[in-house]
Amino acid sequence: MEKIDIKSLSFPELEQLLAGMGEKPYRAGQVYGWLHQKLVTGFGQMGNLPRKLRERLEESCFLAVLETAEVKVSQIDHTYKYLFRLADGNVIESVKMEYRHGSSACISSQVGCRMGCKFCASTLDGLERNLTASEMLEQVYRIQEQGGGRVSHIVIMGSGEPFDNYENVVRFLRLVSDERGLNISLRNITVSTCGIVPGIRRFAGEGLPVTLALSLHAPNDKVRQTLMPVAKRYPLEEVLAACREYFEKTGRRLTFEYSLVKGVNDNPGEAAALAKLLKGLHGHVNLIPVNPVREREFIRSDKKAIHEFKGILERAGIAVTIRREMGQDIQGACGQLRRSFLKKQEDRSPGLGKENEGG
Ligand code: SAH
Repeated sequence: MEKIDIKSLSFPELEQLLAGMGEKPYRAGQVYGWLHQKLVTGFGQMGNLPRKLRERLEESCFLAVLETAEVKVSQIDHTYKYLFRLADGNVIESVKMEYRHGSSACISSQVGCRMGCKFCASTLDGLERNLTASEMLEQVYRIQEQGGGRVSHIVIMGSGEPFDNYENVVRFLRLVSDERGLNISLRNITVSTCGIVPGIRRFAGEGLPVTLALSLHAPNDKVRQTLMPVAKRYPLEEVLAACREYFEKTGRRLTFEYSLVKGVNDNPGEAAALAKLLKGLHGHVNLIPVNPVREREFIRSDKKAIHEFKGILERAGIAVTIRREMGQDIQGACGQLRRSFLKKQEDRSPGLGKENEGG
């Protein structure tokens, strides 16, 4: 019998599981509290449960727990980069940023990614697998346990495309915002997508008031297609119509992410076109100087070009910010830490190529 991923169960599902074991209804609240508030890493720690029940849970369920493989701490601004090892040996990246108002966790939704965006390191080796809801929760739980302070904000902006793992992401959002768990406000959570139209539409109907961030990166399909293969599938017109629908249904303003790449999408004409494109949409633009990825030839726009670009948007009445760069000294773009870790492992065991693994 396959074991149940108990940390991915909703409260009603947990109630059902325990009722099926012949347990009293109040046990569900106790177990849920151990899992999602006390953040235990083993059934043995569930102190107020009878030993018999702990043993039965151990037999039928497993507890997803992430192991910390590496932590890098920025000496500049206390940004933490974590490499977590999953039960199957895969590793993923998460980041904690400390702000005045609390801590924000940036988490991954997949191991690798299959979207193929040209400037992104997470996608270089393709998609390995989806993360479960419990593995997403665990990133937040381990960050909170290790860092001390409460995680108040979450951004799903690590590796992976959230709408390519739709069900697990929605399950995660409901669990992490549950008042019997960490109770993180959905208004403090951002989901970032490369623009999968059916995903945006469906998400608009979930009744989850999270902030949606759209990775735009170009003011027209032609340039966008050179950076993001997904743009060939979903033209901008459809993507922005879905964004408008998201605002209308949820009342939540959107964020448009725009990574500035020198000579590719950063000229004044492109800024003006972007302003025109976004006129009347309820959102703001977040300009991100591109993080150079070793395997690619993209160069970040220079400071002057970035400020000029910003000025054009502002004068056209578009709200715009330049992303504050955190953890510069431990940086490396999204997915780079994982790649260098995997590379190190490979170097340590020469001859043990991918084809020999897991056989
Ligand atoms: N799949 C989601 C989440 C990806 S990461 C999405 O596409 O939105 C979050 C943001 O970082 C995205 O806007 C992504 O395009 C951007 N990004 C990825 N690599 C980058 C890099 N090297 N430099 C700047 N931005 C990058």
